[in-house]
Amino acid sequence: METVLLIRYAEIHLKGLNRPYFERSLAGALARALAPLPVQVVREQGRIFVFGVPGERAEAAAKRLSRVFGVHSLSIALAVEKDFAAISDAAARLMEQALRERGHATFKVFARRADKRFPMRSADICAELGGVLLDRFAQLKVDVHAPELRVGVEIRQERAFVYAGEIMGPGGMPVGCNGRALLLLSGGIDSPVAGYMIAKRGVAVDAIHFYSYPYTSERARDKVVELARLLAQYAGPLRLHLIPFTDIQLAIYDRCPASETTVLMRRLMMRIAERVARDTGAQALVTGEAIGQVASQTIESLTVTNDAVTLPVFRPLIGFDKEEIVERAKAIGTFGTSILPYEDCCTVFVPQHPVTKPRVDKLRESEALVDFTDMIDRALRDAERLTLRPDPLA
Ligand code: ATP
Ligand code: MG
Repeated sequence: METVLLIRYAEIHLKGLNRPYFERSLAGALARALAPLPVQVVREQGRIFVFGVPGERAEAAAKRLSRVFGVHSLSIALAVEKDFAAISDAAARLMEQALRERGHATFKVFARRADKRFPMRSADICAELGGVLLDRFAQLKVDVHAPELRVGVEIRQERAFVYAGEIMGPGGMPVGCNGRALLLLSGGIDSPVAGYMIAKRGVAVDAIHFYSYPYTSERARDKVVELARLLAQYAGPLRLHLIPFTDIQLAIYDRCPASETTVLMRRLMMRIAERVARDTGAQALVTGEAIGQVASQTIESLTVTNDAVTLPVFRPLIGFDKEEIVERAKAIGTFGTSILPYEDCCTVFVPQHPVTKPRVDKLRESEALVDFTDMIDRALRDAERLTLRPDPLA
């Protein structure tokens, strides 16, 4: 009996003529996620099968694939001969494993017969196999409406595949099939979630972070690197650009109106991010802003921020409450790191009375008080660049 991972994919089956492209992207993403395991990824009739994962690493591999965007759900399956006795054996073995973990369960058998030459019809397979499992395991009960365990049998041309249970994937689309964007990554709760959401739409994401050493600490930097690493578990490999921002921030602070410093700082961040985006082929900028969350996120402030760049700025959290964002941050595993208490460069320089309704013409004037060109060039030259990758397979 060979172990196989059976992948059901998310919305990419809707893609009509583009379907082969999306399928190939997903197959590539799956193979990369399991590297350096030399797996074979086979696309067949609305399913993807991953062969070559040793049985004892199947759990770890499945866990890894459950983070690959484009995966709707997956199952660890056994490939067996197309023979009912062999299928029953495999189902019993899988069931024994599943029951070891949960004690007892309700179940339902699902069968798909792609090979119509197989002598039993789908309904017969379900009934017979259900009977075999009930006889064998007293801890099992049938529940056809909301079974805890879905036992699946797929009869294909070459072999039959049997599984017990499903692991949910994240949905979305394979990273890279929808272009590239640059995420403004702070150390906060919001921006990692924003990056996750854009990557989930199939967009390859790189990240840029501005730090103001010595006003912000080395630990604040490490925290951002860690957030990028967590994001890379889903969207990796991911480039992180760490940009020294102190000179620019001090110049704003010294020479521009105090109430406008936050908005000006945001404009300068956007300008630098746009430069990096153009150098690296990113087609859009992404931030974690939401309407009204703080003074720099009023509609007026967002308008003034947009005015600094010509690339589109995506704000996937624009209509989210903080609570909803926190929930998502917990679900994707970034929350614990985001709430570590190290200062980021915005909190260090917060004005006491920030403008909440800045005007574009006024802010352009204030920004023109300083010639930032050389400072921007220097910041880009002194930037540190890292590549974060998913952890190696356990
Ligand atoms: P977050 O939780 O993402 O930090 P926030 O609610 O604290 O967001 P701000 O600090 O106003 O809001 O930042 C708004 C957005 O600007 C962030 O979501 C992020 O995209 C970007 N940003 C803020 N500070 C930085 C920084 N130091 N480096 C890179 N991007 C930043
Ligand atoms: Mg912040």
